[in-house]
Amino acid sequence: MEELFKALSSVLPPERVSYDEVDLAAYGADSAIPPGTSACPIAAVMPQSPEEMQHILQIADRMRVPVTPVARGSNIAGLAVPVQGGIVVDLRLMNRIIEVNEDSAYALIEPGVTFHELSRALMEKGFFCHLPTASGGSSPTANYLMRPSGNYAARWDPDPLLSLEVATPKAGIIRTGSAAFEENLWRARYQCLPDLTGLFACSYGTLGIVTKASVKIFQRGEEERLLLMGFDSLPPALEYMKRIIRGNLAESVTFWTWGWNLFHEMMVSKKKDMPQEMLKHDQKTPPEGIPFGIASARLNGYREVVEAQQNVCINIARELGGQYLENEMAKERFPGCYEYLHSYFVKGTLPKPGEESQIRAGLHLPGCLVSAEPSSIIAIEKHMWELAQKEFEPPYFYRVLPYSHAREFFFAFVVYVTGPIPDQRVYIQKLKGIYGNLYRELLHKYGAVMFRYRKDPGFFAMTGNYGQLLRKIKGIVDPNNIMNPGVLLF
Ligand SMILES: Cc1cc2nc3c(=O)[nH]c(=O)nc-3n(C[C@H](O)[C@H](O)[C@H](O)COP(=O)(O)OP(=O)(O)OC[C@H]3O[C@@H](n4cnc5c(N)ncnc54)[C@H](O)[C@@H]3O)c2cc1C
Repeated sequence: MEELFKALSSVLPPERVSYDEVDLAAYGADSAIPPGTSACPIAAVMPQSPEEMQHILQIADRMRVPVTPVARGSNIAGLAVPVQGGIVVDLRLMNRIIEVNEDSAYALIEPGVTFHELSRALMEKGFFCHLPTASGGSSPTANYLMRPSGNYAARWDPDPLLSLEVATPKAGIIRTGSAAFEENLWRARYQCLPDLTGLFACSYGTLGIVTKASVKIFQRGEEERLLLMGFDSLPPALEYMKRIIRGNLAESVTFWTWGWNLFHEMMVSKKKDMPQEMLKHDQKTPPEGIPFGIASARLNGYREVVEAQQNVCINIARELGGQYLENEMAKERFPGCYEYLHSYFVKGTLPKPGEESQIRAGLHLPGCLVSAEPSSIIAIEKHMWELAQKEFEPPYFYRVLPYSHAREFFFAFVVYVTGPIPDQRVYIQKLKGIYGNLYRELLHKYGAVMFRYRKDPGFFAMTGNYGQLLRKIKGIVDPNNIMNPGVLLF
């Protein structure tokens, strides 16, 4: 330990290395890993440059100490918790927006930059970025590296990453995409060589630490609109989403069941208590006067085009039995829900910094998150309602959104645990057991793949030669497996 402390002190000033137990304990939990159940890290470091990062990784590698990168620590699946102890690399001080390139439509950012910071900077220039429904304090770099589910997932490919700069234990500092050729060339993901940006996506910090990322940004149109449609069930809503995305009528669309919409009311109004109707036994039937679900779409572009797109969307929805919810009416009937969706889809910022994530963090338990073909999503929804009736306590609800021209859909069925977590431990344990087996069942029955890796080596093993090749690459980049080993990917 002493040798490690000495080595870290030779790289970083004392104020950027912490051995304080209170500081360190804070890194040891998230909503998937209760406090006190994981190992405590031995040090937390806050580098500010790729060179400092490289030195830290070299020291850790030499001493075989696990390293866990933490961008903002808002992940909820235990992926940024140092479950095997070691060093936490806290990226909060790498928080520069290095460039907003309006000509090529990308932003070059460091991993500690938050969604709030990036959204604000882009708004000033008439752009906005891909936004998940995460908290505004989380990191675009970390989120995009994990395959985001958010508001540009539909018309565009859900992958906003272009070029990366990555520090690795044994392969040095690597630049990918166009940046591989020249340090100042950050505009593209693909050039004339195989794609290495993709290697680091969905690797959860197990191959290296990204120190810079160029990410796609999108130009705001003359007109930006929120378009809301109520539906009585999933199948027509799914058909509506498919048609408007494939017809290039909207930039994105998400379907939220009524529980979500009441939840948005709660978040924006800052109320902490769930309304009784959210806890009712029959979750499939919405309370009086509320649609079963709302499909919210973002329209963006020249005014005349947007006007025509809106009309076509309304016609499609009506043909499928949907109900057009005018903005003014929605604002009056569901003010919080409207404010949330408007902020998210039109303003391009997550509403109410801090408060929103606080309420969510207090209640949230990761649910079943998968992606599958459109028709499979309908079968999975049925499966989940049946399971919920047997095993879950209300409230639970789901959200669906199409990816890349509706080739596949993202489906998240979430159970919210109410009341103090210590009282709910047995229930949470039971849920974890159910989710554990569920992913394999959904894969075999419906071809659905888990959305983010859930620490299941058996799932990884199913990939055959693909997994073997990844292991060989891992052997070159991080042969001593010091990089976030608690994720159980390698
Ligand atoms: C209530 C709630 C709801 C959410 N809903 C959604 C949603 O709908 N859609 C969605 O896409 N996201 C959602 N998320 C957010 C998503 O979990 C976070 O955006 C994501 O975890 C990034 O968070 P973070 O910045 O705190 O990263 P962290 O939690 O710090 O890190 C996430 C992972 O990336 C690794 N990592 C971090 N930085 C780097 C780096 N520079 N290089 C290499 N690896 C790195 C970490 O080790 C970890 O494995 C939600 C989060 C919460 C709390």
